[in-house]
Amino acid sequence: MDFLRPRTWDEALAGKAERPDATPIQGGTDVMVEINLDRGRPAALLDLTAVPGLDGWSREGDVVRLGAGLTYARLIAELGNVLPGLAQAARTVGSPQIRNRGTVAGNLGAASPAGDSHPPLLASGATVEAASTRGTRLIPIGEFYTGVKRNALRPDELIRAVRVPVAGGPQYFSKIGTRNAMVIAVCSFAVALHPAERRAGTGIGSAAPTPRRAPEAEALLAEGLDWAGRSPLDPGLARRFGELVAAAAAPIDDVRGRAAYRRHALAVMARRTLTWAWADHIGDDTSESSGRGAA
Ligand SMILES: Cc1cc2nc3c(=O)[nH]c(=O)nc-3n(C[C@H](O)[C@H](O)[C@H](O)COP(=O)(O)OP(=O)(O)OC[C@H]3O[C@@H](n4cnc5c(N)ncnc54)[C@H](O)[C@@H]3O)c2cc1C
Repeated sequence: MDFLRPRTWDEALAGKAERPDATPIQGGTDVMVEINLDRGRPAALLDLTAVPGLDGWSREGDVVRLGAGLTYARLIAELGNVLPGLAQAARTVGSPQIRNRGTVAGNLGAASPAGDSHPPLLASGATVEAASTRGTRLIPIGEFYTGVKRNALRPDELIRAVRVPVAGGPQYFSKIGTRNAMVIAVCSFAVALHPAERRAGTGIGSAAPTPRRAPEAEALLAEGLDWAGRSPLDPGLARRFGELVAAAAAPIDDVRGRAAYRRHALAVMARRTLTWAWADHIGDDTSESSGRGAA
């Protein structure tokens, strides 16, 4: 196996152009597991950890640009206030060791339907910066996932950054697992309120071949929530939202859970996260808030 270790971003792009069969490696928390378990031996590894500047983030107006090497640990420590949904999801990834190495870009590269970054990225409307020696392409997150563990990157492209809009309203992420840490999601859900646009975003994880939004559920909220006033959430609307989220999923029975359970759990998580988010939006800290974040 060849090992490529570029020292600049241009060298990294040139390396990928020359060796499109090279597997990029960032934190290595997915790549090294595959290699150690002999699930595949890449012809070459393209180690991005010596490329300066990839491990940071910057703010450009209302968008935060996460470098491909930014770890979950830094995201949690430094961006919890501006990207709360993604930070909540990051807190549930693996263990402290995994969060010290693992990255959102690696989660996108792996494109597992169960990856925890995906639901909040979908709910907030992120964009993936894909770069090659031919230039930079911005891929809307909804077009990024193309199949089970497949994504829209071309063979000569690398993820340079992920652009995530700063939260314009409350955001919540919820994940069902068999325990609280070191667990792949049975299913997961994220909601983001965008009050200025009078709409909400959603993201479903681990309940379809790819992470996906629930467009009909989003339409229900755009139409049905009292964006202009501060009315409490109508329980009927919340229930209907849960039903539409469950209907948008296409889960399977597998070792982690049954399809019927996943649909039920999604309906519950959707209703709860919406309830928390709306309560935050209207400044009500009494409504069903005691279990916030624990679903
Ligand atoms: C014990 C353990 C627990 C885990 N728990 C969770 C969990 O709870 N939730 C969860 O979502 N994941 C979990 N994971 C999986 C993994 O940690 C995440 O997917 C993480 O985000 C991967 O990031 P990384 O930087 O380590 O990726 P890497 O392993 O370096 O790469 C992952 C994939 O992305 C590609 N890639 C990396 N960087 C780039 C780039 N710049 N451009 C293009 N492609 C790139 C690689 O080629 C590879 O296909 C766990 C893994 C382990 C070992």
